[in-house]
Amino acid sequence: MIENLDELRKELKYEKTNQCVQCGYCLPACPTYATMGKETHSPRGRINLVKMVGEGRITDLSVLEEPLDLCLGCRACETVCPTGVEYGAILEAARAAITRRKKFSFPVQTLRKTLFRKVFPSRKAMKLLGNSLWLYEKSGIQKLARKSGLMSRLPAHLGEFEAITPPAVSPSERSSLPSYTPAKGEKKYTVAFFVGCVMDAMFRKINQLSVKLLAEVGCDVIVIPNQTCCGALHAHAGELDETKVLAKKNIASFEQEEVDFIVNNAGGCGAMLIEYDHLLADEPEWAERAERFAEKTKDISQILAECGGIKGLERPPERVTYQRSCHMTNVQKVTKEPLQLIKDVPNVEFIEMKDAPMCCGSAGIYNLVHYKASMDILDQKMERVKDTKATTIITTNPGCLLQMKLGIERENVKANLRAVHLVEYLAEAAGIS
Ligand code: SF4
Ligand code: SF4
Repeated sequence: MIENLDELRKELKYEKTNQCVQCGYCLPACPTYATMGKETHSPRGRINLVKMVGEGRITDLSVLEEPLDLCLGCRACETVCPTGVEYGAILEAARAAITRRKKFSFPVQTLRKTLFRKVFPSRKAMKLLGNSLWLYEKSGIQKLARKSGLMSRLPAHLGEFEAITPPAVSPSERSSLPSYTPAKGEKKYTVAFFVGCVMDAMFRKINQLSVKLLAEVGCDVIVIPNQTCCGALHAHAGELDETKVLAKKNIASFEQEEVDFIVNNAGGCGAMLIEYDHLLADEPEWAERAERFAEKTKDISQILAECGGIKGLERPPERVTYQRSCHMTNVQKVTKEPLQLIKDVPNVEFIEMKDAPMCCGSAGIYNLVHYKASMDILDQKMERVKDTKATTIITTNPGCLLQMKLGIERENVKANLRAVHLVEYLAEAAGIS
């Protein structure tokens, strides 16, 4: 039930819902509207629900839960909206308002607290997770578990996700991301590399290659030790207060070094980082610092392209396609650079897939918590991928990368189709390992 409507309106950022003129231009761009076909599961419908709460026409916030839960947060609706509705801000505020009032069961509450406060923000915990994955793989437990058929009996389709986790790096390799890597040849920029929590635990190799590529194109690369998780997973789960804690920690950490850019290689993290200014806009002590941080934040493709690309690339003739990260496209608005970098690789034939901007259904942990909805979206995406007849799918976000690998497994096309991060693809072409 609603306590104070004025307060709730502020919390919901109600005034932003008034920008929506209900034209419906966003409907064809929305993956959940395409697969579920319900107005309440479209951007317009979701905005309307929030609006009705703000006007006191809906008094039970739980009515919003399912429609907002099933939103991927891909923000394709923002890109096509003619009146500039800030859907992301509306969604984030509504999710936070619901989470603040929701009574989670004790185990769920404990799990949320552990994950959001102890695991994702802690580099030690993420390192432990990464090392555990390595041990699981190398000790033979993985082989045994797969052979025994145990994986197919795991709940929440965890067995399917286990099959697509990338090979873990050893603890010795894990500690080898250097705090300083000098530019090769003439120095163009000094950049600070944003490590990320999932990237660090599961895609350490891509982080290592990212640092090498940045140095290759002329950047001095610094890895700041006390950086933390960007907070994207927290924000998507409605844990806005915790997101702010992480944002402040990152801003303070990155202020310790004078750099030209703060570079990341994960579309979802980058989108969170460049919105720190929105997140902290109402906090006078942090607003300006957050703005400076956001201005310096760039995706790695922007810096590689800005530095003139990587020289001496070589690939055998092949056909590739590109699965855009929604957050990179719709929030960071980085679209040209990754394509340019791909097209610059000799012998590569690039084929754009149909409905390319459509989300792949990964969306943070959406594919874990809304498995069926996510797989419906993925199956549509894989049809588009197969139509291109590409042998490689290139992506720029860890979630999309895992989702594409899952799609390849589901379609049983592993023999002639693979998915790689753009950084891996470029490093491979440059002979960097
Ligand atoms: S969000 Fe934008 S595109 Fe969608 S209905 Fe509202 S005004 Fe139209
Ligand atoms: S964020 Fe994506 S899934 Fe959510 S309403 Fe907008 S287009 Fe639809």
